[in-house]
Amino acid sequence: MKFIKSLLAIGCAVAVMASYSAMAASCCVKAKAKGKDCDHKCCVDARKAKKTCDSCQKEATCCDKAIAKGEDCAHKCCIDAAKEKKVCEKCNPDKKKE
Ligand SMILES: [Zn+2]
Ligand SMILES: [Zn+2]
Ligand SMILES: [Zn+2]
Ligand SMILES: [Zn+2]
Repeated sequence: MKFIKSLLAIGCAVAVMASYSAMAASCCVKAKAKGKDCDHKCCVDARKAKKTCDSCQKEATCCDKAIAKGEDCAHKCCIDAAKEKKVCEKCNPDKKKE
């Protein structure tokens, strides 16, 4: 029984981590930081329609909105982050629960 309990504990920990990463910068912003376009089908379709992806960019940041328009975000902080191939953490915060 101990074995099953520890399996359950691991399962819970993974679920919590997964929900945290869902709150972070969107897949599209991360892909953009690497100089790529996000290749999720839902995001590709959203970009074609010049929209943000409803499933991955629910809390669209300035950078998500710029990607939707096919542009680079014009914020200085975001441009600087992009130069270093990073995601602007000021505008795309990892919203961890305090
Ligand atoms: Zn995406
Ligand atoms: Zn998507
Ligand atoms: Zn931005
Ligand atoms: Zn920024």
